[in-house]
Amino acid sequence: MEQTIEDINKQIKHCTHCRLHATRMNAVCGEGPVPSRIMIIAQAPGRTEDKEANMLIGPSGKVFDNLLYSADLKRENIYITNLLKCFLPNCRRPRRDEMNICYQKYLQKEIELVKPEIIVTLGYHVTKFIFSQNGLKAPNKIEFKTTFGQLFTAKNRKIVPLRHPATVVHNSTNLKKLSIEYTILKTLQSKCTYFDQCILPEKYKNGLITKDLLDKFCHGNWKQCNRFYAYSEGFQPNESILPE
Ligand code: SF4
Repeated sequence: MEQTIEDINKQIKHCTHCRLHATRMNAVCGEGPVPSRIMIIAQAPGRTEDKEANMLIGPSGKVFDNLLYSADLKRENIYITNLLKCFLPNCRRPRRDEMNICYQKYLQKEIELVKPEIIVTLGYHVTKFIFSQNGLKAPNKIEFKTTFGQLFTAKNRKIVPLRHPATVVHNSTNLKKLSIEYTILKTLQSKCTYFDQCILPEKYKNGLITKDLLDKFCHGNWKQCNRFYAYSEGFQPNESILPE
C-alpha cells in the first residue's frame, strides 16, 4: 500500500537513521497541502523550529511570510519542508551522508506525494543537493549567487533557487535583494501576458520548439523572455526571435 504523508511523518518523528537524532529536541515534519503546486525546501530546522517542532517559525519565519506575501502567496497554500528533518548542532553545515539518508528516506517520498510543479530550494546546500538529484550542474560557490531568483527546468519540473530568509535576519540590508529575487514566485503564478498573441505557443503545438522552452518562459519566468521584452516595449517581435 502506498505510504501517506502521515505515515512518513510518523517515521520522521522517531527517526534515528543518522547522527543528528542524538542532538535534536524534535524532528520537524513538512507542512502544507498534499498535493501542492509549489514545494519549498529549506535546509534544516533552526533552534526555534527544533524546540517547537514547526516549520520556519523563528525570526526567519517572519521574514519568510513577508516575502511570500509580497509575491501574492500564502503559506497555507504551499508545502514547506526541510532537506534535513533534524537540527544541525551549532548550526553547522549539513554532511553528505546526512543529506543522502534523509532525502532517500523522506524528502524523495514527500516529493512523490506532493507532486509539485515548482520546487523552490532555499540556500546553497539545498540547491546544490536538489540540482544533483535532477541532473543539473550547480555553478561553483562564487558564481552560485547568480542562480538565486532564476528558473531551471529538469524532469518536467521547475526548480527555483532562492536565498534563505535567514540571510535577512543576519543582515537586514539583504531584504531588498531577496524581495527582488522572490518576485519570480509571483511571475510563476501566471502565464506570459502576451501568451495569446505570441507565436511561440503555436510553434510548440507544431513541434517547432521544445516543452522545456515553453515551461521555462511562456509558463515560467516570462519576464526574462526577449519576446516579452519586445512586446512590452511596444514592438511586434520577429517570428525568429526566441526567448533567450
Ligand atoms: S536528519 Fe533525517 S535521517 Fe537524520 S535522524 Fe533526523 S530525520 Fe533521521
